Formats: sequence, C-alpha cells, structure tokens
Amino acid sequence: MRGILLYEGKGKQLYASETEGELIQLFKDDATAFDGIKHDVIAGKGELNCAISSFIFEKLHTAGIASHYVARTGSIEMRVKQLSMIPVEVVVRNIAAGSICKRLGLEEGLVLDRPLTELFYKSDALHDPLINTEHAELFGWATREDIAFMREAALKVNTELTAMFAAIGIKLVDYKLEFGKHGGQILLGDEITPDGCRLWDAETNRKLDKDVFRRDLGGLSEVYHEVATRLGIEIAYQA
Ligand code: UDP
Repeated sequence: MRGILLYEGKGKQLYASETEGELIQLFKDDATAFDGIKHDVIAGKGELNCAISSFIFEKLHTAGIASHYVARTGSIEMRVKQLSMIPVEVVVRNIAAGSICKRLGLEEGLVLDRPLTELFYKSDALHDPLINTEHAELFGWATREDIAFMREAALKVNTELTAMFAAIGIKLVDYKLEFGKHGGQILLGDEITPDGCRLWDAETNRKLDKDVFRRDLGGLSEVYHEVATRLGIEIAYQA
C-alpha cells in the first residue's frame, strides 16, 4: 500500500500511495523540542498522535472544516490528500503561554479577552519568526486572501476544539495549524495532537501536552494517553 518515502520530518513521514493526489502520513515515536536539540523516542507516541489527530480531523470534518485527512489506515498511519504547503504557521491562543509570554512579558495563564491569531514563517533555520500578512504577501508565501481564509478557518477550529476539550475537563490554551493547497483549495494539513497544542486540566492546570517533555514534567505517553482516554479513543498500545 505504501510507496516511496517522499518526506521525513521530526515527527512524521510522508509516503506515496497508489492513488494519485493522495499520500500516506505516518506518525513516528520521536519526540523533539527546542528545534530538535532535545530528542527522545517514546514507545506508543506515534499511535497516540495518529489516533488523536484522526479523531480531531473527523470531528472537524463533521463541523464542515476541510482538511487533508481521508481515513485512518493503520495504528500509526493515515491517508491524506497531497498538499502544496503554505510556509506560514497559524497559532491560535486563548490563554497566554510559551513564546508570547517571553515576547510581550505576559504571565503564563493570562486569559485573553478573545482568541488571538498569530502568523509565523515556517523556517527551522530562522526559528519560525513571527510575521504579519504584509510579510506573507510581499515575499510571496501566501496572498492576503489566503491568510484571511486561514485565520477564519483557524478560528472555526477554535470554536469546535475549545468546546470539545471543555466537555472533557481540558482547557485549550493554544495550538498551531498548517495549511496547504490541493487543486486550488486551501485545506488544513499536518496534524492536530498534543505535540502542537497546549492542553491544561481545567481544574488543576496540570499540563497534558508536549510541555511535559519540554520541561521534564513526567511521562509524555501517560499524559497523551490520558487525553486520548478522556476523548473516548481506544488505544491498542499498552506501556
Ligand atoms: N507550536 C508547534 N510548532 C512550532 C511552534 C509552536 O506545534 O514550530 C505550537 C506549540 O506547541 C504551542 C503553540 O504552537 O501549542 C504556540 O507555541 P509558541 O509560539 O508559544 O512557541 P513555543 O513555546 O512552543 O516555543
């Protein structure tokens, strides 16, 4: 079923498939942070991320939000539509944490009056710098219309996911989305997992995301497992 390896990133691989315009996205067990300086292999992480991402893309599809997701095809793989990626990451924040705290001197945990969207230029060499719509347009990374579409989609995702996580006692603090073009249409791509979201327990603010790995706060697979279980997702891998 899987063809040749076309792309390998820190957490995923993309393979050709037998269907024109579709690829197989495979989730690895690798965990990385700080531009890859911190690295570990965590058994079961690929399955957890594949399961959580599939569940969320299906939920978003039901809510009318188009993504590259076609189907889950195995414990660590999903079939996706091939995208030409837009090199602009869209971050949505509901609560201040991470880079915005350093950049603007905010206290972690500050609840924002409304969701904030930020744009970052996707470049490991430049450490994904913050940009605005003018940069994206001037340097040809995305048009003004593309950016408007991505922001609007990112906010729709926020409405869906904030409610979904609130229902299981989790606060959606922030998350990063990537988009790409498929036959002229912009689709949500990449993954939506605790690797690219900040999730806090609603009662205790205990971290249930990759910050556990970044800050050595405990077992990563245990907290991802907790997120999956609370979402009602069955996981085959047992630690
Ligand atoms: N994020 C990501 N990939 C990146 C940068 C950020 O998945 O290359 C996610 C990150 O996990 C968090 C959100 O986007 O949920 C906001 O990240 P932030 O800008 O605060 O940067 P960080 O603190 O991760 O360096």
